[in-house]
Amino acid sequence: MPTSQAPCALVKNVHIVTLGCAKNEVDSDRMRALIEASPAFNIVDDAQEADAIIVNTCSFLVAAVQEGIDLTLEMVGLKLDDGADVPVIMSGCIPSRYGEQLVKEMPEVTAFVPVDQEDSIVDVLARVTGITSLDAFGAPSPSVLRTVRSAAAYVKISDGCDRFCSFCAIPFIRGRYYSRPADVILDEVRSLVAGGVREIVLIGQDTGIWGSDLEQGVDLAWLLRQVAAVVEPVHGWVRVLYLQPEGMTDDLIATIRDVDQVVPYIDLPLQHCDADVLRRMNRTGDSAQFAQLIDRLRREIPGMTIRTTAMAGFPGETDDEFEELCSFLERVGFDYTSVFSYSQEEGTAAGEMPDQVDEDLKLERTQRLHDIADAYGFASAARRVGKTYRVLIDGSESDDEGNRELIGRAAFQAPDSDGVIHLGQVEGTVGEFVDVRIDEAVCYELFGTIVSREPLTGNLEEADA
Ligand code: SF4
Repeated sequence: MPTSQAPCALVKNVHIVTLGCAKNEVDSDRMRALIEASPAFNIVDDAQEADAIIVNTCSFLVAAVQEGIDLTLEMVGLKLDDGADVPVIMSGCIPSRYGEQLVKEMPEVTAFVPVDQEDSIVDVLARVTGITSLDAFGAPSPSVLRTVRSAAAYVKISDGCDRFCSFCAIPFIRGRYYSRPADVILDEVRSLVAGGVREIVLIGQDTGIWGSDLEQGVDLAWLLRQVAAVVEPVHGWVRVLYLQPEGMTDDLIATIRDVDQVVPYIDLPLQHCDADVLRRMNRTGDSAQFAQLIDRLRREIPGMTIRTTAMAGFPGETDDEFEELCSFLERVGFDYTSVFSYSQEEGTAAGEMPDQVDEDLKLERTQRLHDIADAYGFASAARRVGKTYRVLIDGSESDDEGNRELIGRAAFQAPDSDGVIHLGQVEGTVGEFVDVRIDEAVCYELFGTIVSREPLTGNLEEADA
């Protein structure tokens, strides 16, 4: 096992790479906060400077597992100053899914840390970097719940899943569903808001049933109101992602409609709409029920934006079933649709189904879903042109000529998935709310002009634009 031989009084540099979804981002951020609190370690952005590397992996799909393995093996080749291999820790969903099997199959990896052991990351780092006593570095800083890196932050309200959709390995990777307690979530939200975060994005595998395993009378609508009260003094936003249709209660709809801080944005990962396909997926509903729910959301919540997920090529999907999905997507016209090609996953019920769809047909169907998703998504973006929206400044990026331009998002754009609004080379501060008139739409990307600014509140970071 490669370890650094440097004296233990030397602070060690740690580099973290995160793969996969927002839930993994939160897990990496939690590890980062624990590592930063330890005087023995320092986080670095450059893998070449690292004394240890953590690759936090995803194993939701076969392709994600391959990506995680490839990247880990790439990191294994890096060297320390003394020529020894950099210790590489593989954390997250691949170790959770494959367990002990990995120790034999990937001997190059120094340590494996499954999801439920990530809070021990500092001890693991000490072991792989040759630190025999963390006490020699002094006491850790007071516990930091999260590191703040932008105007928006994901907050995990639950983990695991009890739905056992037949195509999904998540319940086997992340375990049974559990809600994080309200006080733990709210402490984390307060700490993020105090650090400058202005948008809290609540996530979990199945957010709609949050609280069902906690004391009676506590549910997602209640939690949204509590989080809204925390962000209200800084005029912040709350968003909730991954709501299954069954979770859309009257109270939740009323909360999204009536509480100003809760943005009118719903992410409903429907996957399909044909009743028979949904039964085979071990899911419920049909196109009529879904269309009714979406009509209601649009009727009752002004400015409603709806995102969904659609899957092509589930085992046994007939031409008629696929056509039903296409015409449903066309009828509803979602603002955003993530399209997936069914992936045959080891250990899942659907992976064992005999009538797997031919790969070429699956690809053809996936492309057709992409075309429909883009046609309606681009049209939704184009309808924003000429209108003025409240926008949260998120940061800056380089334009085609290498100039820094400010970017932001409106309430209808979730972080990392729905595009951004380009604001040009203007002054602005990360976390500032501005009113922006949309001048142009290119696919999902919008270009706009700031027409007014809201006075700044609280502790905000300077943007480098
Ligand atoms: S709801 Fe279904 S798709 Fe989502 S994590 Fe749970 S089992 Fe997987």
